[in-house]
Amino acid sequence: MRYSEFGLTTLKEVPADAEIVSHKLMLRAGLIRRLASGLFTWMPLGLRVLRKVERVIREEMDRAGALELLMPAVQPAELWQESGRWEEYGPLLLRMHDRHEREFCFGPTHEEVITDIARRELRSYKQLPLNFYQVQTKFRDEIRPRFGVMRSREFIMKDAYSFDLDEDGMRGAYQKMHAAYTAIFERLGLKFRVVDADSGEIGGSRSQEFHVLADSGEDAIAYCDADNYASNIEMAATEAPAEKRPAPAQELKKIETPGARTIEALRKFIGISAEQTLKTLIVEGEEQPVALVLRGDHELNAIKAQKIPGVATPLTMADTETVRRVTGCEPGFAGPIGLEVPVYYDHATAVMADFVIGANEADMHYTGVNFGRDIGEPETVDLRNVVEGDPTPGGSGTLSIARGIEVGHIFQLGTKYSTALGASVLDGDGKDRTLQMGCYGIGVTRIVGAAIEQNHDDRGIIWPEPLTPFNVVLVPINLHRSETVRETAESLYAELQEQGLEVLLDDRDARPGVKFADAELIGIPHRLVISERNLANGEFEYQHRRDTESRNLKREEALNLLKEHAIN
Ligand code: ATP
Ligand code: MG
Repeated sequence: MRYSEFGLTTLKEVPADAEIVSHKLMLRAGLIRRLASGLFTWMPLGLRVLRKVERVIREEMDRAGALELLMPAVQPAELWQESGRWEEYGPLLLRMHDRHEREFCFGPTHEEVITDIARRELRSYKQLPLNFYQVQTKFRDEIRPRFGVMRSREFIMKDAYSFDLDEDGMRGAYQKMHAAYTAIFERLGLKFRVVDADSGEIGGSRSQEFHVLADSGEDAIAYCDADNYASNIEMAATEAPAEKRPAPAQELKKIETPGARTIEALRKFIGISAEQTLKTLIVEGEEQPVALVLRGDHELNAIKAQKIPGVATPLTMADTETVRRVTGCEPGFAGPIGLEVPVYYDHATAVMADFVIGANEADMHYTGVNFGRDIGEPETVDLRNVVEGDPTPGGSGTLSIARGIEVGHIFQLGTKYSTALGASVLDGDGKDRTLQMGCYGIGVTRIVGAAIEQNHDDRGIIWPEPLTPFNVVLVPINLHRSETVRETAESLYAELQEQGLEVLLDDRDARPGVKFADAELIGIPHRLVISERNLANGEFEYQHRRDTESRNLKREEALNLLKEHAIN
C-alpha cells in the first residue's frame, strides 16, 4: 500500500473524552472514527487489524470443528418472550417496531435465534454434536459507553453455540472451546488469564472469562498461581476467618460525630483506622429492606449480595426516604443496633472487637461495641470483594489482584434455552431428549483496544506481529529528488510484497521526521529507511519498533530478516 493512496490521516490531538491510551491511540492513528456515543467507523487501517483478529478466530474455531453461519442482527420479540428475556434484559436491549407495529430488538446476543434453529433443524441424536458460530455485529445500549471500542454500543462479537445430547457431551464441547480460546489469544500474542466468572444475564451453571491483563481493565481478577486459582473478583469467595475474636477491652460509648457521614470522615474524626469500623448499608428487598453490614474498609459485592434471600435483584441501595424509615435518621449514621429489618454481616466482621458503628441518630456513633455484649452474635455471610492478601478459598495461598479486560466468555448453559424454547432430539432409544447447550463469546472489536493497552509506548502503538496492519514500513528519504532512492524503494516494495509481506510505502513528499513519527504512531513493527547515503554502501537503515537504535543491513540481510515475518 502506498501511503499517498491510503487516505490515512493521523491526529496530534484527541478529544478530551478519550480516557485511556488505546482509545486515544486508535483515534490518533486513524484506526477508528466516532459517529455517535458508542458507535464507531472502522477506517481502512483499523479494519486491516480487525480482519486479522477475525481470521485467527475463524481458523481456530474451524479447527475445533465449529461451523460458521450468519444469523440476522434483528430479532423478533416473540422469541425473547419465549425465553423470558424480553422482560429480564432491561434497558440494554435496543427495541424497535416495524411498519406493522411488530416488536423487534437488535440482537445483543443470539441464544434465542440459535435455539430456534436447533428446534427446527435437529431431529436425531445422530446430528449431534454440533457447534455453530458467527462473527457478527451486536448492539447493547450500554449505560456508559466508554473507552472507544472497548465498551461501545455497537460491536462485533464472535458467538458460538454448542448442542449435545447429554451433560458429558456439553462439558466436552466446553473444554474444546476453552482450548480453542486459549489458542486464539496465544496466537494473537496477548498476555491473558482464564478466570471463574458469574454467568450474568446469559444464565447456566459454569462459566469462565478470558481476560487480557492491563492496568486500565474494568474488571478486577483475584488469583493465586501457587494454588492454580483465578477468579473474577465478582465471584471470588471469602470464608469465615479462622482466628478467634479478641475479648472486649473497651466500654460501650455513644459519642457525637457531627457531619461524619462516611467511613473516611468518621475515621479522621475519631482517629481510628477503617478496619475498626462497621458500615451498615440499607438495600432494597423483595418484601422489606435489608441491612448489610461490612467492615469499614471492605467493599460490598453486588453479585454476592443479590444471592442473599430477600435482597432485590439488581442490587439497589435504598433511597433516603427508606433509610429514614428503617433507621429513624438521615443516611450516614446507620448501625445494626435496634434495626427491625433482616441484618446480614459479612464473614470478616465476626472476629472484630471494640468497633465503631452508627447509632441510628443524626451525628452520633457508638464506640467500643462488641458482639455478644452490646449486640447479638452476628449471622455472617460472604458479602464483600476479596482484597490482596486474602486466603485462597480452601487453599493455602494468598490472593493477588490484577486488572483485566474481558475479551472472551464461555458458558455451560445446560437446558436453560432448550427447555424454554422446546429444542429436543430423539436419542438411540427413541426417547425425546432436551438439548444440552453451551455458548461462547469473543469481543472481536474489543480485542483491538485490549491489544493496544498491552502494546504501546509514549510514541504510539506497537503491534504484536499477528495483528499489525502492515508488517513493514518503507521510508524513502528525498524520494521526490533522488532517482536512486525512488528506484530502490519501488523495487524493494515490489519484492517484499512478492514474499508475502504487507508493506506500507511512505511515498509522501514529507519531512523524514513526520514520516518516522507517523510510522511509530501507527505501530508498524519493522521499518526500513532508504537514503542515498546508505545506498552508497548498498545498505538500508533498519529498526524494529521496540528497538531504541537503528542498524544498517545489506539488502539480502534485510530481506531475510523480514521474510520470517511474512504471513501465509
Ligand atoms: P461486560 O461484562 O464487559 O459488559 P459481558 O459479560 O456483558 O461484558 P458477554 O455477554 O460475556 O459480555 O459477551 C461476550 C464478549 O463480548 C465479552 O467477553 C466482551 O469481550 C464482548 N463485549 C461485551 N459487551 C461489549 C461492549 N459493550 N463493547 C465491546 N465488546 C463487548
Ligand atoms: Mg461476559
